[in-house]
Amino acid sequence: MPSLFSKIISGEIPADIVYRDDQCTAFRDIQPQAPVHVLIVPNKEIPTVNDVTAEDEQLVGHLFTVAARIASREGIAADGYRLLVNCNRHGGQEVFHLHMHLMGGRFMGPMVVRK
Ligand code: AMP
Repeated sequence: MPSLFSKIISGEIPADIVYRDDQCTAFRDIQPQAPVHVLIVPNKEIPTVNDVTAEDEQLVGHLFTVAARIASREGIAADGYRLLVNCNRHGGQEVFHLHMHLMGGRFMGPMVVRK
């Protein structure tokens, strides 16, 4: 079964896509936690950080360069932003397709803690 995010990447489910290349796709989070909240998702389906292999190192690094490019485009690079990756239950992961949250547009606080 393709993940929810694979369905967004393939166009089966609509999303507000802000960036796309042959390695990753970025779209606005449906429940934004900040004025800018974008998810950067590898096109390849990797369920969690635990499933990242040495083969994926270039791809994972690419998520950072894309994050910086989107932050610049969104006008939040200079003020700063938070990048966040959740893993499994204790990390609060809800969608099991690796993704990086890019959040900014306001002061994000010292740390994200939701009890
Ligand atoms: P995580 O808890 O790290 O797995 O984050 C999953 C994120 O996906 C949450 O912030 C959700 O709001 C977001 N999300 C879930 N469904 C969609 C969707 N259809 N389009 C955009 N974002 C979504």
